[in-house]
Amino acid sequence: MEHDCLVAGAGIWGCTLARRLAEAGRRVLVWEARAAVGGNVRCETDAETGIEIHIYGSHIFHTHDRAVWDFVQRFIEFNGYQHKVLATYKGKVYHLPLGLTLINKFFGVELRPDEVKEFMADESHSSAIFDAFFRGYTSKQWGKPPEEIDPSIIKRVPVRDNYDTNYYNDYWQGIPSDGYNSLFDRLLDHQNITIECNRAFSLSELPDIPTYYSGPLDRLFDYKFGALPWRSLRFEMEKLPLADFQGTSVMNYTEASVPYTRIHEFKHYHPEKKDVMATPKTVICREYPRHWEPGDEPYYPIVTPESTALLDKYREEARRYPNLVVGGRLGGYRYLDMDNAMSAALEVPIDAVCGG
Ligand code: UDP
Repeated sequence: MEHDCLVAGAGIWGCTLARRLAEAGRRVLVWEARAAVGGNVRCETDAETGIEIHIYGSHIFHTHDRAVWDFVQRFIEFNGYQHKVLATYKGKVYHLPLGLTLINKFFGVELRPDEVKEFMADESHSSAIFDAFFRGYTSKQWGKPPEEIDPSIIKRVPVRDNYDTNYYNDYWQGIPSDGYNSLFDRLLDHQNITIECNRAFSLSELPDIPTYYSGPLDRLFDYKFGALPWRSLRFEMEKLPLADFQGTSVMNYTEASVPYTRIHEFKHYHPEKKDVMATPKTVICREYPRHWEPGDEPYYPIVTPESTALLDKYREEARRYPNLVVGGRLGGYRYLDMDNAMSAALEVPIDAVCGG
């Protein structure tokens, strides 16, 4: 093989690594099982309206990691979009996350920052909020009550004692001005990189060069110890003859009785594209969480003591192959935001595997 290393899987983790390896002088072969690179960040542009559609659900790049922000900005410019999430509960619209805007509207009070803590320490207040905004949504999202999921998952949603309605705490965020696909095209645009799509990787083909794999770890070993459980999603896209359906990019529906968890309206991710915003049509997407089985698209790992033990067995198996490095959301079986995947790829010690 005329390459120095193989990157199997071209999502954020794989493409970031491919770039690093290429810049370190390695000749890199990239295999991607799908027809196009970009993993679940891959987007499609609606030809009629010019709207960038996040076909695997909304992705907003956000980070407080300086190394990630500096790295990603070498390839793309961001449009300055700041993510807000609204929630509809019993016909009323609230601003997430949990802060003064939501609490004051929900209870019809005018609390000040120094009064929130004591107010929310009252069990009846905190459980009313939890039941309205978290119990139903979480049960739909995970297919089980919130008491049965890892508490770190709900803690992703910030809790504040001010009127800041930015959904993330991170300093830097935005959407690539030229679209997400441009990120992957530019990461891989290097003379040392060769890309082959529609090319899945299997262990029987493991070459004797460093190989960086970011597909599902259990699939790599033919599910020999059993399947690692995931939660999957179904997206229902709809184009509507309206300039604006919901006035914002993401509206959560927190009641258990509404079958979907949220509606995405993609044109709001590019407020700077005045011509797209002005089109008299919009594309929305209802997101339905669903049970996962091998062969379905895996979205969220279901982390339990049992799945962690299973993951450990697969990791031990992977360690038997010294030139194999496994990572990314699927390979690592992790709930990774895009910046986490990029940061993990920036930290892989390539010289150790490549032999210096
Ligand atoms: N969550 C919730 N209600 C909401 C939003 C989030 O109960 O309106 C919970 C839910 O369990 C979800 C978790 O918080 O899985 C993390 O939410 P986040 O918005 O980070 O989820 P993601 O966008 O990654 O799916």
